[in-house]
Amino acid sequence: MRGGKLIIFSAPSGSGKTTIVKHLLNQPELNLAFSISATSRPRRGKEKHGEHYYFMTLSEFKRHIKDDDFLEWEEVYRDNFYGTLKKEVDRLWAEGKNVIFDIDVVGGLRIKKKFPDQTLAVFVKPPSVDELKIRLKKRSTESDDKINMRIAKASVELATAPQFDAVIKNYDLQTALDEAHKLVAEYIGVEIKGKK
Ligand code: 5GP
Repeated sequence: MRGGKLIIFSAPSGSGKTTIVKHLLNQPELNLAFSISATSRPRRGKEKHGEHYYFMTLSEFKRHIKDDDFLEWEEVYRDNFYGTLKKEVDRLWAEGKNVIFDIDVVGGLRIKKKFPDQTLAVFVKPPSVDELKIRLKKRSTESDDKINMRIAKASVELATAPQFDAVIKNYDLQTALDEAHKLVAEYIGVEIKGKK
């Protein structure tokens, strides 16, 4: 495997990294494509197979682990497996794209370790764990139990921030979007459209 740049956005669930990743995907000069992960978790709301995730059963997921099909995988929450298929990154590189990932901190750091010379790993920091709780409740796509599980994990994840190449504080969304755009443009080596 080789090819374009790898841009990783990792953060506790509810930090706003998905919003940041979507914003970056809308910037044509960055030439980014989203790495669609595989997951064994159930579909949420309007999520589509092959767009947000490749949804699969737990046994399908485990078969892919056995067949060594993953670049990285994690049991992010109990019985909820998530992973990046090698084939997915190959597919996007073959299209000449830089690949952007929205993955958990362990997976993000694992990819960085595998491709140290072509990866920018960014950690998105929420204002506080309390604010995370508020955001997850507002999203109201999950039960209280699941939300509490995500909050418990958040503290552990926050401690990994120093291992990333950059940390973006998502206290004000527009500031975070601009900062992320600038950071990725610099890493890829392109100018932001409309700016000199
Ligand atoms: P969610 O269930 O909210 O979509 O995702 C839960 C967590 O799993 C998020 O932190 C998300 O970034 C992470 N995740 C999504 N895809 C992958 C993946 O391919 N690998 C890893 N390690 N984590 C992932």
